[in-house]
Amino acid sequence: MAYFRVNENCNGCLSCVENCPASALSYIDQDDQRTLLHNMTKCARCGQCWRICPQEAIEFQHLLVGQWDDVVTMDLIRCQVCGEPLYSTAYQQKVVNEMDANSEPLCPQHRQRRVASKWPHKY
Ligand code: SF4
Ligand code: SF4
Repeated sequence: MAYFRVNENCNGCLSCVENCPASALSYIDQDDQRTLLHNMTKCARCGQCWRICPQEAIEFQHLLVGQWDDVVTMDLIRCQVCGEPLYSTAYQQKVVNEMDANSEPLCPQHRQRRVASKWPHKY
């Protein structure tokens, strides 16, 4: 999802490109089309493009939202006793199985209890 968004009012005048102090805006004219480009790593979020746009086409508010974006979602392995999330199934396949083929999905607390339960009791 792009942080820099323009609405349907944009007519490609390029005022924003020409007045961006950080060179964070650019464009490509290819075949019969003009594409406006924005580079988030260069953008200083100064709002100059938003102020200068004669069409009020730049929806600057998206640049100011400090939101978290979903990157990837995967299945979780949970502690088989209490249900506490432990690690992803992908992590289990790659790492945990290499370390301990008999590793049970247990949180630290229940792993400790499981190990302790296997110790011989002295009376
Ligand atoms: S200044 Fe506004 S109308 Fe012109 S290209 Fe930029 S966003 Fe589009
Ligand atoms: S907010 Fe400022 S730095 Fe970012 S694209 Fe607009 S004019 Fe350029």
